[in-house]
Amino acid sequence: MSPKPVIGLLGGGQLGRMLCQAAAPLDVEIAILDAENAPAKQVNHNSRNINGSYKDAAKIKELASHCSVLSVETEHVDTRVLEEIATTTKVAVCPSWKTIRLIQDKYEQKAYLASKGIPVAESVAIEGSGDAMLASLKAVSAKFGYPWMLKARKDSYDGRGNMKISGDADLEHAVAEFGKFSCYAEKFVPFQCELSVLVIRTEDDEGRTKRLLPYPAVETVHEDNICSRVYLPPRTTPASACERAQQVASDVVDKLWGRGIFAVEMFVTKDNQILVNEIAPRPHNSGHLFIEAVPYMSQYKAQLTAILDQTLPPTIEPYVASSIMINILGGANPDSHLPLVEKAKSMYGNKMAVYVHLYGKESKPSRKIGHITVTGLVASIAELEEFAKPLVDMASDIRQ
Ligand code: ATP
Ligand code: MG
Ligand code: MG
Repeated sequence: MSPKPVIGLLGGGQLGRMLCQAAAPLDVEIAILDAENAPAKQVNHNSRNINGSYKDAAKIKELASHCSVLSVETEHVDTRVLEEIATTTKVAVCPSWKTIRLIQDKYEQKAYLASKGIPVAESVAIEGSGDAMLASLKAVSAKFGYPWMLKARKDSYDGRGNMKISGDADLEHAVAEFGKFSCYAEKFVPFQCELSVLVIRTEDDEGRTKRLLPYPAVETVHEDNICSRVYLPPRTTPASACERAQQVASDVVDKLWGRGIFAVEMFVTKDNQILVNEIAPRPHNSGHLFIEAVPYMSQYKAQLTAILDQTLPPTIEPYVASSIMINILGGANPDSHLPLVEKAKSMYGNKMAVYVHLYGKESKPSRKIGHITVTGLVASIAELEEFAKPLVDMASDIRQ
């Protein structure tokens, strides 16, 4: 038998923590590069873990020196060092550094998808800073009309790096706030809802797609740009649009490089057209509920299976009729979320179950510190929504 593979992971937040939780029963070893006591390290004590920043090239190389595969829990990493490792050592980088580099720049990402015939909102690069930027913003306003979205090309998450431009009055403010970033403009999409589809990708030795395995589409709800809830199945989207979303997501992931799990965020327009918003080249907040909804292949197990090139199932079929995921965001006080957690732990329903996941993170306002998954064995999504209402209300109250 070949020696046990060791996966090196850049970043040890909640995604890494849940990856470690999936790896433990499979006896897959994970070595984490992140700060001491990062969420993933709390559940994965390991002599191979490294303390430091996952942005530090020397530390990444040190991690690679005792791993067979490197993977990431965030796309905001140094892809030059990943490229060097992939091309000069036997360590596989999953997904490919090429995918991560493309995705890091949201404007390049959109331009690439458009060039491959994937439906996306129209985008325009913003040039310069100061007066040149202001002129560029005015030109976009004339072209798109209000509102439109100004986005930083790099390093954004949870909407940090996005600004909705609603009128002339916002332009000066946008220059002051975003002048230091490289930016692009995106047409505003008056969507009826947002969907996300996870896709598992494997490839052959030439880098051609071997398998594309989509999960069922889920509905994501964002409030203040942060995902607050996820619904399986989507509450009102017609099944035909959900199937189309699975097809579009598979087409997107087919155009990327490397093995692993990917999430494709999409808008559903008022006439049920699908437009791709963005890709995450890793496990994603929209996929947490599959831990319970598809217990034989959570997105974390899928990530392990794909990057270790092991056998994937023929299909991804939920074991429940419905599921809702509610993010626990930090509130005004460090313990604002505790009554919600206590309520979730006390709720039992008729063939409905509530699962609490806390990440071991210090609570800060709007920080993702945990989530709750509710499942219904036979309940419709509307019935499950009724059951979960107290949790949804309490989670919303914390955010006020
Ligand atoms: P993430 O945490 O998912 O990486 P992000 O910071 O990259 O988020 P986006 O995905 O670009 O941000 O946008 C966050 C949310 O803002 C979207 O899910 C959507 O609700 C809204 N949004 C983004 N772009 C548009 C658009 N063009 N039209 C309308 N709403 C948009
Ligand atoms: Mg993003
Ligand atoms: Mg997003």
